[in-house]
Amino acid sequence: MVYMSRPMRRVFHYIQGRQFPGDGTRLGEVFDPATGHTQAHVPLGGVAELNAAVHAALGAQPGWAAVSAQRRSQVLFRFKALIEQQLESLAKLLSSEHGKLLADARGDIQRGLDVIDFVCGAPQLLKGEFSAGVGPGIDVWSMRQPLGVVAGITPFNFPAMIPLWMLGPAIAAGNAFILKPSERTPSIAVELAALLCEAGAPAGILNVVQGDREMVDAILAQPAIKAVSFVGSSDVAHHVYATAAAAGKRVQAMGGAKNHGLVLPDANLDAAVGGIVGAAFGSAGERCMALPVVVAIGEHTAAALRQRLVAAIKQLRAGAPEDPLADYGPLVTAAHKQRIERYIALGVAEGAELLIDGRALSVAGRERGFFLGPTLFDRVRADMRSYQEEIFGPVLQIMRVESLAQGIQLASAHPYGNGVVLFTRSGEAARCLAEQVEVGMVGINVPIPVPVAYHGFGGWKRSAFGDLNQYGTDSIRFFTRTKIVTQRW
Ligand code: NAD
Repeated sequence: MVYMSRPMRRVFHYIQGRQFPGDGTRLGEVFDPATGHTQAHVPLGGVAELNAAVHAALGAQPGWAAVSAQRRSQVLFRFKALIEQQLESLAKLLSSEHGKLLADARGDIQRGLDVIDFVCGAPQLLKGEFSAGVGPGIDVWSMRQPLGVVAGITPFNFPAMIPLWMLGPAIAAGNAFILKPSERTPSIAVELAALLCEAGAPAGILNVVQGDREMVDAILAQPAIKAVSFVGSSDVAHHVYATAAAAGKRVQAMGGAKNHGLVLPDANLDAAVGGIVGAAFGSAGERCMALPVVVAIGEHTAAALRQRLVAAIKQLRAGAPEDPLADYGPLVTAAHKQRIERYIALGVAEGAELLIDGRALSVAGRERGFFLGPTLFDRVRADMRSYQEEIFGPVLQIMRVESLAQGIQLASAHPYGNGVVLFTRSGEAARCLAEQVEVGMVGINVPIPVPVAYHGFGGWKRSAFGDLNQYGTDSIRFFTRTKIVTQRW
């Protein structure tokens, strides 16, 4: 936290259709990760700003719920078109705060728009069920009604996609939404809220409250907020899940990850290595569906993989987001970079074999940027803390097992259960993994198995608390409640 000493770009809250400064007593720094400089200050709000947002949301929501689902989806169509018109400037803003490459920033927005596309089908998605003649002259029908005012709390790493995952279904279903974005990447949320108003949503339907843990605790304690959708690290996810549920709110809370990529001897190794390297190091490994662990099945596979991975990783280049030759950009903050460096030191201390060490990297002209070179460990063991915990950076760990069964057991025993991938040519092996593994999202020769917008996204174990996934039809269930009418005329 800092107190402002010189003029600098200010990020605001967005409440009742306009930017709102808040009382401004607490401010957070927003960095440009590529240069290491502070580029803006963001207000770290609390109860007062949240109450203003709740007041706006409560005022707007009944009218919005009364609008037909088709009219609401027309607003979302226009919202999508406006975002597409401004894709380039939005991607630049996003990339400047996060550090991801411009192409990745465009993808971040585009994948969020896929969910808006999906919820433009609100009239179909919100349809109820009807059973005629369940008794003499008796029919039963159901309807889905919005919850009222709902909230989303999002992480730094997908500043557009994850807010759009949540606010799209919530608003399509007739709720008013309060978004608390990450204080590290706060600006794009305000732009999205302004564009939704421009598209025709009433003021107060989408409000953005900026802040850190104090704002999160205010949201969890606010009785007018009926549901909370959270994405972030697992300890915070669990805290949000337990606190919101104890307060009687509906809650879904997605947490961290440590995804395993299993490689069988029959895999197309060149294709597997290309996929693994992209999935492990793309976006500097700051993705919950990154692939930070590769599990070689058999010593022969391990030797072949190791050789190919070393060669491929040595070609990788970390650079500025606009550098067309860069494979990935800087990490989000200096603190996050130092945290990853501590995990690398821990891996060495625990006895893993450090094959490539990215810690000495310096990017010419960007010496103060938060860059970290790609790092590769071999002979990582399941009892190592550097394996058990999420690192969330450009670090890949090679492990070795003797059979597919051991690989499935390893992935299933890990505390996180977001994603798992198998590289193989065997349909039998693929089916066995898909059926047996205790992980929520499975890839077969697909290195980042993020489901499309009309399925749903969610892990198992410490990767998700609550039972309904993000987006897909689960999201419509999450943001509505069902009423069932039994009638005789
Ligand atoms: P984070 O947990 O630090 O922050 C997430 C949100 O919680 C932010 O809005 C932040 O302000 C708030 N917050 C942070 N600490 C808090 C506390 N002590 N009490 C209350 N609120 C708090 O996560 P992050 O660093 O922004 O994002 C990275 C994490 O998110 C990784 O663990 C990653 O795996 C996870 N993630 C998960 C998914 C998924 O769908 N499972 C998707 C993306 C990211």
